[in-house]
Amino acid sequence: MDMAISDQLTMTIAGRAAAAVDFVDVINPATAEPFTKAPVANPLQVNDAVAAAKAAFPAWSAAPIADRKSAVRTFAARLRENIEMLAHLLTSEQGKPLPNAKSEINGAIAFMESYCNLNLEPEILRDKAEQYVELRRRPLGPVAAITAWNYPVLLCLWKLGPCLVAGNTVVVKPALVTPLATLKVGELARDIFPPGVINVINGGNDVGAALVRHPDIRKVAFTGSTATGKRIMADAAPTLKRLTLELGGNDAGIVLADVDPKKVANDIFWAKFSNCGQVCAALKRLFVPESLYDSLIAELVNVAKSVKIGDGFTDGVQMGPIQNAAQHARLVALVADAEKRGATVLYVGEVPKGPGYWFPITLLGDVPPDAAIVNEEAFGPVLAVYKYKDPEEALARANASAYGLGASVWTADVRAGAALAERMEAGTTWVNQHPSMGPDIPFGGVKQSGVGVEGARWGLEEYTSIHVVNIKKN
Ligand code: NAD
Repeated sequence: MDMAISDQLTMTIAGRAAAAVDFVDVINPATAEPFTKAPVANPLQVNDAVAAAKAAFPAWSAAPIADRKSAVRTFAARLRENIEMLAHLLTSEQGKPLPNAKSEINGAIAFMESYCNLNLEPEILRDKAEQYVELRRRPLGPVAAITAWNYPVLLCLWKLGPCLVAGNTVVVKPALVTPLATLKVGELARDIFPPGVINVINGGNDVGAALVRHPDIRKVAFTGSTATGKRIMADAAPTLKRLTLELGGNDAGIVLADVDPKKVANDIFWAKFSNCGQVCAALKRLFVPESLYDSLIAELVNVAKSVKIGDGFTDGVQMGPIQNAAQHARLVALVADAEKRGATVLYVGEVPKGPGYWFPITLLGDVPPDAAIVNEEAFGPVLAVYKYKDPEEALARANASAYGLGASVWTADVRAGAALAERMEAGTTWVNQHPSMGPDIPFGGVKQSGVGVEGARWGLEEYTSIHVVNIKKN
């Protein structure tokens, strides 16, 4: 990519470029080589960003919601105008194929803009001769938006839309390994929003923790691992911050015996392997009836063999590398552990030769209950396939997880699918698809997959508190 673009990216504090003292190498996961440097916030700059968000809050929250929506719409248009540059930054730092980077950004903009169609109207709860009670929604204050490296732009804009429309200000912190596209998003916002409404700083886990502990931050909107979500909950406790936590998942998909393996294999394959398997709500545990086990695996292998893996800038590539070395090492360890404990490797694909965090498409069968992958999230292109005898047994095994993000049922009988779906412990259960999202549909996890939701009016309300005005009439 054009080095000039990524070399000049700056953090945004109070509507201006913040001069950085510290920098971090940004690595291209397709080469495992650093290709540029990104600025990193020092503790003073973390405080400056929060102070800017705090200073901007009174005027921004008092502005009519129509004005805030208008700014968000202008911002959406600006991001669309810059989609080529943003997509190049995203593919360079994240590794995903360029067309996928573009569709991530386009989808993210549409989600952000969708909040401009919503309102936070007061609700009248009682209107009687002697009493009038009204419920109003108030913004919370400065928000810390902390994101993961798998969908940097999507996760950022999912938070900015409801945060800004509801009248909050924000400090965004992307993952240290994927800061570039998010820094650019901050730059593009500078002349659209009043200074301090959107601040974007970069940094590692320490910068995230400093934001979470900061007394002037009123809410943390976080997407990342369950382990980090627990730390954030603990760190937010002393100041009792509001939290939206979108965390990990180990989604189960139950295939019923009435499906035609040929028909569902492609969809099931991509339910797991999109974004090189680095999807919170990917189908990570596939439950297949004995009668279909061999035929469905054969069909999945057929799809796997057709997939082109490589550098995201190469035409026709469908799957890139793993985003970072630590995640790559975690996957190597998960597969080695499963094999050591007796799992069968049903398929291992090819990867490009040479450097880069390449990981082959891997299908595992006969995974024993003591293998780590049974309970831990495989955040990469590794699918565990489990054989079952009876759907009740599959349901019990599917639900026996600490996670509860997504789940799916695959069947020719949609009614039977919906009935089973109702009994799966998840924030969303899909039938004959996995995952599928939309700006009009809330998304979130139950159990240890999260707290709260993003999306639609329920997502918007998460950026507000309820204020009741209760009047005793004279
Ligand atoms: P991670 O938890 O390691 O990091 C996520 C972000 O949190 C980064 O910006 C990081 O710097 C920051 N962070 C780390 N420690 C922190 C702390 N103590 N306080 C504040 N911030 C801190 O997660 P990851 O490895 O980058 O992302 C992968 C995980 O994200 C997977 O578990 C995946 O399932 C999950 N995820 C969930 C969703 C969802 O919507 N539920 C979406 C995408 C990814």
